[in-house]
Amino acid sequence: MKLFILLYGIAGILTGSFLNVCILRIPEGRSFISGRSACPVCGRTLRALELVPVLSWLFLGGKCRWCRANISIQYPAVELGMGILFSLICFFRGTGFRSVILCAFFSLIITAAFIDGRHFYIPDGLSLLVLILGIVGFFADHGRFWPEFLRRMAGLVICGGGLWLLRILTGGGIGLGDVKMMAACGFFLGWPHGFCAMAAGYVLASVFCLPLLLSGRADPKDRLPMMPFFTAALITTVLFGNELGQWYMGLWGL
Ligand SMILES: [Zn+2]
Repeated sequence: MKLFILLYGIAGILTGSFLNVCILRIPEGRSFISGRSACPVCGRTLRALELVPVLSWLFLGGKCRWCRANISIQYPAVELGMGILFSLICFFRGTGFRSVILCAFFSLIITAAFIDGRHFYIPDGLSLLVLILGIVGFFADHGRFWPEFLRRMAGLVICGGGLWLLRILTGGGIGLGDVKMMAACGFFLGWPHGFCAMAAGYVLASVFCLPLLLSGRADPKDRLPMMPFFTAALITTVLFGNELGQWYMGLWGL
């Protein structure tokens, strides 16, 4: 088991390295498969030794070897973060196919969170991949077909539909990209987990925004990317959902 946790961790770090490329290139419309990585400031192509996740950044002190420009801490942070998340998935959910699906799910929503956080939109391709992943997961791992299918469809309709309704009520305050992504996540997690994650995302966003609004550092009219909050809530739900649910029910003596 320890070996598997380590292997998942290494796979996570390598995936994080690839996600960094996706986060940077998808909004620019560049291919994220071909083309060597280069320093964003001086444009110099990185050599093999400069592409080692986390370690290269540490050894070079977070600077480009040639022009000494600062390289964002986001790169090693995403790599290390993905390594930790993949290990946690393996630790909590085992080594099976289900865990591989969860790793892919985390990769997609984290990419969406970073792109939304920086550019205020969620690429449709990521939402579509989440939906496909949900369908694969469903066929790989359903107990009784119809109850499980209905549970997942309920998640899709309630998350997507709820957010869409909120979009109409707020006069477009919620992007269509959020609606599509959360509909896909709703199918992936199913009822009630998908809905719980979405609600928790809103609570997180409120907790984050309230001090900013009260201190006047943010305006209610400012745009707020929701995906980072949804992603944090989705990850928590996937990893600790059952335990948190039991704890919450325990509070009410159920
Ligand atoms: Zn450079």
